Amino acid sequence: MSAASIQPPKRLLFGPGPTQVEARVYEALGKPVVGHLDPYYFEVMGEVRRLLRHVFGTANECTFPISGTGSAGMETAVANFVEPGSKFAVFANGFFCDRLTEMGKRQGAQVVRLEKPWGETFTADEAAEFLRRERPQVAAFVHAETSTGALQDPKAITSAAREIDALVIADTVTSLGANAVNIDENGIDIAYSCSQKGLSCPPGLAPFTASARALERLARRQSPMVEWYLDLRLLLDYYDGKKYHHTASSSILYGLRESLKSIEEEGLPNRVERHIENHLALVLGLEALGLTMHVKEGQRIPNLNTPQVPAGVDDAKVRKYLLDRHGIEIAGGFGPLAGRIFRIGLMGPLSNESCVNLFLGAIEEALAA
Ligand code: PLP
Repeated sequence: MSAASIQPPKRLLFGPGPTQVEARVYEALGKPVVGHLDPYYFEVMGEVRRLLRHVFGTANECTFPISGTGSAGMETAVANFVEPGSKFAVFANGFFCDRLTEMGKRQGAQVVRLEKPWGETFTADEAAEFLRRERPQVAAFVHAETSTGALQDPKAITSAAREIDALVIADTVTSLGANAVNIDENGIDIAYSCSQKGLSCPPGLAPFTASARALERLARRQSPMVEWYLDLRLLLDYYDGKKYHHTASSSILYGLRESLKSIEEEGLPNRVERHIENHLALVLGLEALGLTMHVKEGQRIPNLNTPQVPAGVDDAKVRKYLLDRHGIEIAGGFGPLAGRIFRIGLMGPLSNESCVNLFLGAIEEALAA
């Protein structure tokens, strides 16, 4: 590379993430860096925490962004709340449930799984039967399973979990910011997300929230925390107690502040509605092109669409065509869905009528080619 400064190609990020970043977020990212203990840093952090409570739909005091991507949020949830020797129940219907399983095993927990084919979701009866039988201390599910396109109803899991006094961890990595996740109303104890999907910010932060009930459980934890970087009590000493823990980045925090502010200005209910409307228009358009959606109607993630790859079509060639000719990024399936689905994100600034039409025109051309 010989250019004096880097010139990344222009892309339209119609994949599962990272998603398109608004100009005002880019602008915020370039503002002067301040120290991780500067009063201004804590001022911005205070506002980010307030705005995150709003998008999470929670009054949880313990709500802040973890330094790291979505997986850092996942590991914070599992490492702090799933103790060695305890029982950890995972609702397994996709790739990220397997990552939760792996993290639970690494903590030395006894992991029990209720399995479903990739693309299906769990009913309240299925969840209740499983949880009453296994009686885990902690249960985890993925709200919006990015590997399949399926959206899980949280209440189907949280009602039965409450009955047996299990804590519930929800992965809201793909849902937060584009869907109503309603943490408190849904009875979720711990949730984590990422900055680069529904929040339309670059990757680098993992919004995290934990209820008072979860923190009480943490206070009674029997075994020492092995992880130092993701130890929630140390992190709270930093964000609440203003005590040095690590050199958190003010730049990415500015970016997140700006994307959350833009959500507040639009109004969360308006934003959720916009994502649903454009999802429905995209699905209609894809079906008109002869494509079939992988997930049943009523269980689909509005900001992540998964049509099946038509018979005889090579999905990699379609993706390459879209990238080369239109600068459009989408993703393919993986695991059991490799080569079988496209994963098309319609999030943030791309969730509008003209982007839906632009995308449908481009994919029609790619499929014909
Ligand atoms: N959980 C879900 C549902 C995801 O979609 C992803 C990433 O796409 C992750 C967890 C991991 O997030 P990250 O890749 O930001 O670490």
